[in-house]
Amino acid sequence: MPENTKKDIRSLSEEQLIALFADIGEPKFRAKQVHQWLWQKAVASFEQMTNLPKLLREKLEAQFEIREIEVVDEQISQDGTIKFGFRVFDGEFIEGVLIPKDDRMTACISSQVGCSLTCKFCATARLDRKRNLDFFEIFDQVVIIDRKARQHYGKPLSNIVYMGMGEPLLNYANVKRSIEHITSADGLGMSPKRITLSTVGISKMIKKMADDDLRINLAVSLHAPTNAKRGQIMPINDSNDIEGVVDALEYWHQKTGNRVTHEYVMLSHFNETEEDAKALAAICQRVPSKVNLIEYNPIDGGSYERTSGNRAMNFKRELEKHGVIANIRRSRGKDIDAACGQLANKKGG
Ligand code: SAH
Repeated sequence: MPENTKKDIRSLSEEQLIALFADIGEPKFRAKQVHQWLWQKAVASFEQMTNLPKLLREKLEAQFEIREIEVVDEQISQDGTIKFGFRVFDGEFIEGVLIPKDDRMTACISSQVGCSLTCKFCATARLDRKRNLDFFEIFDQVVIIDRKARQHYGKPLSNIVYMGMGEPLLNYANVKRSIEHITSADGLGMSPKRITLSTVGISKMIKKMADDDLRINLAVSLHAPTNAKRGQIMPINDSNDIEGVVDALEYWHQKTGNRVTHEYVMLSHFNETEEDAKALAAICQRVPSKVNLIEYNPIDGGSYERTSGNRAMNFKRELEKHGVIANIRRSRGKDIDAACGQLANKKGG
């Protein structure tokens, strides 16, 4: 058991807070004040809730805590990318990354401790999935990385990508709740247009997310244009094959009107032929989309190699010939293992 067994007050919804305050004889507006401190001002202690009577703060303190995740490691890359190691309340570790680029400050955040998927090219895949993160632990990463962006670069966060450790659509309830607190007017008030969720492609959950009308952007880790190839590198393809994923994306597009981003890690001598490009273009023609061609970041003991710059350019041109919008994405933070697919808690254990 963790030594502290008090509940995080943030696990209560606003309605539950109001009900609790009614029980202890406190007026409703006090519950609203507490809600504001927790989600709008994102304070990490009751002491900071300065408009509450001291007695009330003490009462809350006796029953609850606010378990903000703790920064235990911070590494800065030569390109300005900063990787953070966070310890969560039960001693597990997760990672988050701040990626500064011109006026953009992007936070890449984790949704699970470890990952249950076993994509062959990803370092996080080597870890077991220990547990889902609670929505407030996801929220904390945003708050802390925003604070760090202001400290280091004098600018607030402008974008958030759910592209850290874990599969967000396998922890959908918490991911959704975190997005609500990040975007709502009585939360951090960020625009959902500045949030991107990246998924391995869980068809059922993509449809659910379309129905829920979150208004965020969607990126799908496609990485190969045929089931035969995709199945070799992403075992999830056995249960969520390309047809199913594309169906779900069509549904997403119909519901949201949003274009989808296909992520495609370029692996040397694996998914970079003219035929691959044609097959990928055919997928793109079914749903309005663009392709991000991602430079592969070698992982320890991995058996793949990065595609050469020339072959990547040819692949991009081939896609463009078929009317597909494609960008080559260089990775940031490679020198500190902060790039895509490299989050593996080398420090945290
Ligand atoms: N589970 C989600 C979120 C992780 S996002 C998903 O798979 O989409 C991380 C992104 O980095 C994914 O597109 C993933 O496929 C990609 N990635 C993983 N390993 C990589 C590597 N070694 N080099 C480059 N990109 C990688």
